[in-house]
Amino acid sequence: TQKDIATPRRTKEIMDKYGLSVKKSLGQNFLIEPNILTKMLESAGVDKETNVIEIGPGIGALTERLARAAKEVLAFEIDGRLIPILDETLAPYNNVEVVHSDILDVDLRTVISEKFNIDERLLVVANLPYYITTPIIMNLLESQLPIDGFAMMMQKEVAQRMTAEPNTKAYGSLTIAIQYWCEARIGFIVPKTVFNPQPRIDSAILILERREKPLVDVTDESHFFPLIRHSFVQRRKTLWNNLTKVYATTPEAKKTLREALEDAGIEPSRRAESLSIDDFARLSNSMVAFNV
Ligand code: SAM
Repeated sequence: TQKDIATPRRTKEIMDKYGLSVKKSLGQNFLIEPNILTKMLESAGVDKETNVIEIGPGIGALTERLARAAKEVLAFEIDGRLIPILDETLAPYNNVEVVHSDILDVDLRTVISEKFNIDERLLVVANLPYYITTPIIMNLLESQLPIDGFAMMMQKEVAQRMTAEPNTKAYGSLTIAIQYWCEARIGFIVPKTVFNPQPRIDSAILILERREKPLVDVTDESHFFPLIRHSFVQRRKTLWNNLTKVYATTPEAKKTLREALEDAGIEPSRRAESLSIDDFARLSNSMVAFNV
């Protein structure tokens, strides 16, 4: 049997053979430590009953491990130079399909319904290209796809924001957007030394499990999410300060906003970072009821 791709030696062999130089602009940092992948698949709970979508297979380090551990694997890679390489490195596996595409351009709803049985568990597992971590995740969550969970490697700092508690510096609109749909936890920290080339900062495995229903009851999501973003625009300022700029520029509007805050039981002098997700849900629902 062949050596794992996720080793310094085999990665170098493959890159030399194809004369491949990494594209920094595509966030190409290849994993060269197989134990990290063992732990990652364990944290994600990948088994032979699990189908997997992978984003950015690179030269196949994670993909081959998924092929061995999972049922079917569907991987999307933007860099055309990697497609012939993956053809070769993944040749031993008949349960892997690689598609040459930007993940942000893929109509995942159609792809999933054509490729997978929706009664079966479906996970997204990826060592993400860091330059588009947040857009990828928000896209996957907002589109309400039939995905049961996510195990994704990303910058440590972003994973910490997604799992933050109120009254911390890391807590913000991203925290709330993620936790609204998912239970989020950090699986483990990944040192920057296990990549080639080595990134500047450490990474973390973020585990997301989709909730059966959102964490809080929100009457209008198209009001809730912008409200949260506006509340955090200037973190050090009060809620009142941030909200009046957007929602209440006239004296009458200010009066109504004050009533909505009172209805929700939120002091206008508080800062956004002190509000729980439940506080934001109550506030949004009151504002909707008061037409703010
Ligand atoms: N999975 C490999 C590993 O763990 O060694 C490579 C991970 S590397 C951090 C990120 C990969 O995502 C690269 O192969 C890169 O070309 C690919 N990528 C970057 N942007 C992408 C996009 N928009 N859609 C799909 N793949 C993308």
